[in-house]
Amino acid sequence: MKSFSFEVKAKDIAGRIGSLTVNGKKVETPLLMPVFDFKRQIIPVKELAGEFRFKALMTNAYNLLKDEELKKKVLKEGIHKLLGFDGIVATDSGSYQLMVYGSVTTTNREIIEFQNRIGSDIGSFLDIPTLPDAFKPRAEEQLNETLKRSEEALNAEFAVNAGIQGGRYLDLRARAARGIGSRFELNAIGGIVPLMEAYRFLELVDIIAAVKMNIPASRVVHAFGLGHPMLFSLAVALGCDLFDSAAYSLYAQNDRYLTADGTKRLAELEYVPCSCPVCSRHGIGLKEFSGEDRVGLLARHNLYISMEELNACKQAIAENSLWELVARRCRAHPKMLEGLNKMTEHSHWLSTLDVITKKTAFKITGPEAEKRTEVINARKRIERVKSECLVELPVFGKIPAELLDIYPFNSLVEDYGKQRVRDLEKVRALMDYQFGENAGELISEKVRIKKSRATQRIRWLYEGGEMIASVRASDHLVIPHEKLALKLKEKFEKPRLRVILTEDEDAIQFVKEGKSVMNKFVKEVDSELRCGDECIIVDSKDNFIRTGTLALSPAEIKDFKRGVAVKVR
Ligand SMILES: [Zn+2]
Repeated sequence: MKSFSFEVKAKDIAGRIGSLTVNGKKVETPLLMPVFDFKRQIIPVKELAGEFRFKALMTNAYNLLKDEELKKKVLKEGIHKLLGFDGIVATDSGSYQLMVYGSVTTTNREIIEFQNRIGSDIGSFLDIPTLPDAFKPRAEEQLNETLKRSEEALNAEFAVNAGIQGGRYLDLRARAARGIGSRFELNAIGGIVPLMEAYRFLELVDIIAAVKMNIPASRVVHAFGLGHPMLFSLAVALGCDLFDSAAYSLYAQNDRYLTADGTKRLAELEYVPCSCPVCSRHGIGLKEFSGEDRVGLLARHNLYISMEELNACKQAIAENSLWELVARRCRAHPKMLEGLNKMTEHSHWLSTLDVITKKTAFKITGPEAEKRTEVINARKRIERVKSECLVELPVFGKIPAELLDIYPFNSLVEDYGKQRVRDLEKVRALMDYQFGENAGELISEKVRIKKSRATQRIRWLYEGGEMIASVRASDHLVIPHEKLALKLKEKFEKPRLRVILTEDEDAIQFVKEGKSVMNKFVKEVDSELRCGDECIIVDSKDNFIRTGTLALSPAEIKDFKRGVAVKVR
């Protein structure tokens, strides 16, 4: 019987590093699953699992079903033994064949049952991919059939990679997303390969956004067939978690060499822009191999570069530089740049998922910087701050000088030392910015502000000998301690600034002892808070429990049943 769980470890924009466990096998997302083709075995499974260290593979169950010999073997041995692979095996249902050839000789029930019997960890029902240029009535008809077929997969013994279709029609995609997302934990955005092949990235971005906005934030999202590394960062930033690559071998079979900036023809390469084991040994000598050798070597390079790019995306999430990575990648092609601009049209939605304070400086990469999520979040909060001293910053416009130490403004200020702001004014402005209009009034003239001897920056606030807040050295945000948190709670009505726990006594006791708040014990959370914000944890009667830092966005806290919602101080 299947087991499936997913939790988020780190975030940037809508991108996330997650921990996914299927049938006891744990992998980290974003995850790339290479497609293994029994009929054309370019890289052996042993090598995919060994040298490449892939922990999940994808293969086509339909092709196995249609090959008498393989079918007999896989039914006897199971898919893991047949592959010689003990990681996660995901199987495809033949939907892709349905799209390419127009028909398949199996039924939805048969292919589901077959995947049950061969022991797929992740499997698919026979959803109907709608071609991008299909007329709407046709797309709608196909979607209705897909949704009907999804019902038959509800009791599958594998984790269902449930296809969301609807072609290029966003209202259909939204309806499909609601229908599938409410019932399945793993959601696959299907029918996007033809769009990617035609460089129709405007539509691709809108489709991913339409799907993500209409499924619970806790769903694992598979961008089905998205295997070109140049698109990874864009798709990751929009919240896709799983990718599969048949591209590494299909492109190799056409003498095409993948890079994170696009595709090159092998014949055009006078130098290789890569030092993977294949390129460092063979370089442009790749051309001289013939037949299988060349395809095999090219496929290996293509796979190495895909892994490298996915790692770059993960590092960008870890250091919060995903916008910069996407902006860089999307400048490789005018159509990619259109995709980036399209993504910024979704910034209001994305800003609710993004983190409020980042580890890497805000860098202006181009005109799109003005439409980034950080700008939207910051502008909303600047309105809360009254200041006599405004400073003009690029992208953000007029900013209260009191805020120049914090993200995202700090990286755009050139003459730090010259802004003369009283310490008290500074702390009050930070309070307004972080917690709400007039929150700064809670800091009276009597509060003693203590600075770090080493850096001469504000570090601690005392009132009557008691520490009421600290100012974090890394990002200069105010961390209220209990006394100040109680005043904030009094000033701002429920649910402002709050994470409200359920009535579970044990959970409340754990939090009182300083343990993290788990998502499933949160009843309500202030939707104006952002991941990384300081918050006040209360019980359902609004009694103060502790303070903490939001580890996810409010939408995610609402939807996730697993993982940490708030890191408690
Ligand atoms: Zn290479």
